[in-house]
Amino acid sequence: MKLLKRMLILLITITFMMIYCGNHQQADLVLRNGKIATVDEDFSIKEAIAVRGDKIVFVGSDEKISPFIGPDTRVIELNGKLTLPGLIDAHAHIHNLGEKLINLSISDVQSYKEVVDIVSERVKTAKPGEWIIGGRWDQNTWKGKKFPIHDPLSKVSPDNPVFLRRVDGNSAFVNKKALEIAGITRDTPEPFGGAIIRKENGEPTGVLINRAMNLVKKYFPAESEELYRQKVIAALNNCLSVGLTGAHEAGISPREIETYKALIDDDQIHVRVYAMLGEQETPVLEIDDLTGYFRRHRIENYGNHALSVRSIKLFFDGALGSRGAAFFEPYEDDPGNNGLLRITPEYVTKVSKAALEAGMGVNTHCIGIRGNRLCLDAYERAFKENPRKDHRFRIEHAQIVRDEDIAKFASLGVIPAMQPTHCTSDMGFVAERVGKERAKGAYVWRSFLDAGLVIPCGSDFPVESSNPMLGIYAAVTRQDAHGNPPGGWFPQQRMTIEEAIKGFTIWAAYAAFQEDILGSIEKGKLADFTVLDKDILTIDPKEILTTKALYTIVGGKIRYKVK
Ligand SMILES: [Zn+2]
Repeated sequence: MKLLKRMLILLITITFMMIYCGNHQQADLVLRNGKIATVDEDFSIKEAIAVRGDKIVFVGSDEKISPFIGPDTRVIELNGKLTLPGLIDAHAHIHNLGEKLINLSISDVQSYKEVVDIVSERVKTAKPGEWIIGGRWDQNTWKGKKFPIHDPLSKVSPDNPVFLRRVDGNSAFVNKKALEIAGITRDTPEPFGGAIIRKENGEPTGVLINRAMNLVKKYFPAESEELYRQKVIAALNNCLSVGLTGAHEAGISPREIETYKALIDDDQIHVRVYAMLGEQETPVLEIDDLTGYFRRHRIENYGNHALSVRSIKLFFDGALGSRGAAFFEPYEDDPGNNGLLRITPEYVTKVSKAALEAGMGVNTHCIGIRGNRLCLDAYERAFKENPRKDHRFRIEHAQIVRDEDIAKFASLGVIPAMQPTHCTSDMGFVAERVGKERAKGAYVWRSFLDAGLVIPCGSDFPVESSNPMLGIYAAVTRQDAHGNPPGGWFPQQRMTIEEAIKGFTIWAAYAAFQEDILGSIEKGKLADFTVLDKDILTIDPKEILTTKALYTIVGGKIRYKVK
C-alpha cells in the first residue's frame, strides 16, 4: 500500500514536470518537414526549427521538434521546401529603389526615342514648372549605344525641368530647362570630380557625369518627410517580397537615419537595415571633429537590431559604363581618358583614421584598377597609424583589379563587397572599355575567395533588380538570363551555389559586424528565414531565375507570404 502511494506521488510529479517542461519549451513558431540549409560551419542540412520570441531555440530533426509544439505554437509545414537564413543584400540604395517604384520609370526602353515619348506623356499631366524626375536609362541597351543629346527631350518638355538618372546612378541626363535653371552653358567649367558632356561646339548635351549632377540636383524641390517615408516603406516591402530580410544601405545622412528610427518606432518597416553614413549633405571632411561626428552617429543596435550604423560610405571613382572608373592606363575605347577620382587618397586616409578612432568601418566605392589600388594604399596608411584587427573596412564593387591588388586586399583584410549581377550586366562591354587583358581582372570572385577573403553579395538596387535569386544565378553561371555566353563569361571565376548563398547570408552579416546574431540558422541567433519554392541547391541553375520566396520571416514574424 505504501509502495503504491509512493508510486502514485512519483507519477503525479513526473506528469507535472512533463507538463511544466512542455510549456516551458513551447515555441512561438515551428518550421518542420523542410530542407533547412543552416549555413553553419559545415553547411549542414536540418529538418526543423523552433523559434521563441525573435530567436532560434532549436534546429534539428523533425523527431525532436515535437516537445516545442504547444497549443499556441504556429506551425509551418515546409513540405520539403528549402529554407535559408534570411537573405541580406549587402549593397543597396533603399531610398532610390523607393524613388524608382514611385517615380517615372524609363528602365526597360530600347531607344532614346522611347524615353522622349515617355517624358512627353508625363509632361501632359505635370504642373507648370514641376520637376520631372525619373530613371534609370542605359544607352548600352539602345540602338547605337550612344549618349543622348538633349534637343529632342527639350522639345517635348520646354517648361518642365527633366532629370533622368542613368542606370548606375552615377550620371544623369537633363533637358534644356534644367540646364537653364542650373546655369550650365558652354562657358561652365568642368566641376571637380565630374564632367559635363558637350557637343562639338562646347554646348552641353545634357549628360552630366558624377559630381556635375550636383549642379542641377541642388535646385530640386525639397522632398517632404512624408514622401521620403513612403519611398522607404515601398522599397522595404519590395525587399520582403523577394525574400530579403536585411539590406545594407550604401549611404544615408544623419537626417535620414532619424527617419529610419521613427519608422522603426512606428513599426512600419520590417527589414533589418545596416546603414553606411554617407555624404549626401556635407562632405565629411568639412566637419571639424570628424571622430566625434562618427561617434555620435554610430549605432550598434536600434530597435532590436532593426537598424545599425557602423561604417562610412565614400565614393572614390565613377562607374565603368560612363567611363568614370579610374585606371592607370587609358580606356581602350576612349584614349586619353583614365577615368576620374571624386576625392583624393588623402581624403580617404583622413576619414579612415577618424573612423578607426570611432570604431567605424569605411566602405569605399571603387571600380577601376587605379580606384581600388589607391584606396587600398589609403586604407593602409590609416591602419599603420591605428592598427585594428577587426576593422571590417570594405571596398564596394571591387570590379576590376590585378593579382597584386588581390594580395593586398588579403594582407590588409579589406572585404570586397561585390554585386554578381553587375558582372552579367557589364560583361558585354567590359573588354570594349578596358581591353582583353584588364578584363581578366573583372569580377574575380574565385580569385578573391582563393585568397582567403569572403565576398558579401548585393545587388546595388535599383541599379540592378532587388531579387537576390538573380544575384545567385549570376554568381554561379556568369551568364545572362538567356544563358549567354555559353559556359559563362570567364567561367573559372564562378562561385559555387553554397558560396553564393553565403554571400547573401553569413558573409553579408560578417561585413556588417553581425555574424554573431545573423547570417546562419543556429540556436541563439535571430530568427530570420527565407523559404523558397525551389531547391536552388540541386536544380538546374537556369531554374534559379524563376525561384520565388514563399515566406520571408524576420525576427520570428512572417513578414511576407506568397499568395
Ligand atoms: Zn551603390
